[in-house]
Amino acid sequence: MATIFDRIIAREIPADIVYEDEHVLAFRDINPQAPVHVLFIPKRPVATLNDLGEGDAEVVGRLVIAAAAWAKRAGFAENGYRVVMNCNHDGGQTVFHIHLHLLAGRALAWPPG
Ligand code: 5GP
Repeated sequence: MATIFDRIIAREIPADIVYEDEHVLAFRDINPQAPVHVLFIPKRPVATLNDLGEGDAEVVGRLVIAAAAWAKRAGFAENGYRVVMNCNHDGGQTVFHIHLHLLAGRALAWPPG
């Protein structure tokens, strides 16, 4: 089923896009939970982490590598940052197109609520 993220990929709704390549799109979260909160999504939709198989290693790897490279370029490598992927209800997932949250710009508490 199409999600709001498919509409962002298709440029049907606006987003503050900070990075794009052939496989990955990254844009600022509409409801940021840190001074910097960017979502990295694969252009190919996968609903949840449960739907990933062996053949998806490259999809997930590209998300992580794109996020880490962006964090480094943005100047967060030294102080640090957090990446999070939520899965289904208990994980707090609300948009069913897998995405990696990158949170930065303040010291983050652990464990999350
Ligand atoms: P989840 O809760 O599924 O892990 O994360 C979904 C994220 O997508 C939330 O942090 C939410 O604020 C963000 N989000 C939902 N709709 C939109 C939208 O239309 N634009 C942007 N930029 N972010 C969105």
